Amino acid sequence: MNFDTNCLHAGYRPGNGEPRNIPIIQSTTFRYETSADMGKLFDLEAEGYFYTRLQNPTSDMVAARLCALEGGTAAMLLSSGQAANFFAVFNIASAGDHIVASSAIYGGTYNLFAVTMKRMGIEFTFVDPDCSEEELNAAFQPNTKALFGETIANPALTVLDIEKFAHAAHAHGVPLIVDNTFATPALCRPFQWGADIVTHSTTKYLDGHAAAVGGAIVDSGKFDWDAHADKYPGLTTPDDSYHGITYTKKFGLGGAFITKATAQLMRDFGSTPAPMNAWLLGMGMETLPLRMARHCANGQAVAEWLQKQEKVAWVRYAGLPGDKYYELAQKYLPRGCCGVVSFGVKGGRAAAERFMAGLKLASIATHVADAKTCVLHPASATHRQMNDAELAAAGVSPDLVRLSVGIEDVNDLIADLSQALELV
Ligand SMILES: *Cc1c(COP(=O)(O)O)cnc(C)c1O
Repeated sequence: MNFDTNCLHAGYRPGNGEPRNIPIIQSTTFRYETSADMGKLFDLEAEGYFYTRLQNPTSDMVAARLCALEGGTAAMLLSSGQAANFFAVFNIASAGDHIVASSAIYGGTYNLFAVTMKRMGIEFTFVDPDCSEEELNAAFQPNTKALFGETIANPALTVLDIEKFAHAAHAHGVPLIVDNTFATPALCRPFQWGADIVTHSTTKYLDGHAAAVGGAIVDSGKFDWDAHADKYPGLTTPDDSYHGITYTKKFGLGGAFITKATAQLMRDFGSTPAPMNAWLLGMGMETLPLRMARHCANGQAVAEWLQKQEKVAWVRYAGLPGDKYYELAQKYLPRGCCGVVSFGVKGGRAAAERFMAGLKLASIATHVADAKTCVLHPASATHRQMNDAELAAAGVSPDLVRLSVGIEDVNDLIADLSQALELV
């Protein structure tokens, strides 16, 4: 099936007389006739459900839909994007290991890596995503286990050169993990460019209606863990907590990563989505291509309008000719650059705050990438834990306003921006 059809039908095909919508299986537990039946599930000897902390049919159907959209071999849903990025890295790295990550990433991910996972004994080296291949290669160490970046970085709006990153990762025998939250598979499918694992905060465009916090991990099935078995013993040697199963042997390259993340990490950390939230995500994905087309058209129009305003100091949108990432966007995002536009108001931080207070239609919200237009000042919100040097490395200047352009009539949006700029 083609992409737009998969948005509606992948992951669930109702049988005769069955519900047309994905059913919400709102149950913690599942009944079995014998203890032996259940024992097989615990040993991963049979497929089936026993406890929603590990797996739930609604979540699995929605994960299968996203898996089809990204073109992967296996996928899982999680309770948040934070959980997704944590699981994706922790599934293959532990104390004593090292990860290379782009410095232009979401503030929450930066904190997860640089503070919390560092406390767990995992070291991170952050690299400028625009660095040369030599500089990128120099960041790797013998104990490096993965390379990480964001397709369109939140909020810096840098576009990742996925092929360059994939090339460097594979030259060092490690997978490339790409957070594809802002692009969604409707605009970019990182696996086509060599990425091995994709993560999402489904909270954003995939759900699309600001209804449910959620995350996802999708595996391309292409990374050969067995070829680098010494680096990934968790996937390539027997797991004592599952009766000596070796994930790559039992589930193949296509299933090993997600099965291990489910069997070990979901079991132990329990970052599972509610079935109702998984269902909302599945519903949101049905209209993903329609919404993304509108977000892109509105984002482009607003960015072009902002560029012409005297009170606007600068505009960052990869769809604007002359933008630093225009060429990369032409290659990786030919259908559009999503609805997120960042810009600076002349007069710096204070002017940005005055402008935002004047908006009537766009709401100030710690959110981004949903149907209704919203706006945020990252330096005083999502990125406020960073000092000026870290802000600069993340591409966030103090005057940066992050505008998430929704799917309203673009003339109403421009009228709102216009009257707010007049107040500055
Ligand atoms: C929002 C976001 C996250 C974190 O996701 P939550 O669902 O809020 O936990 C991670 N990565 C990116 C790119 C994001 O925009």
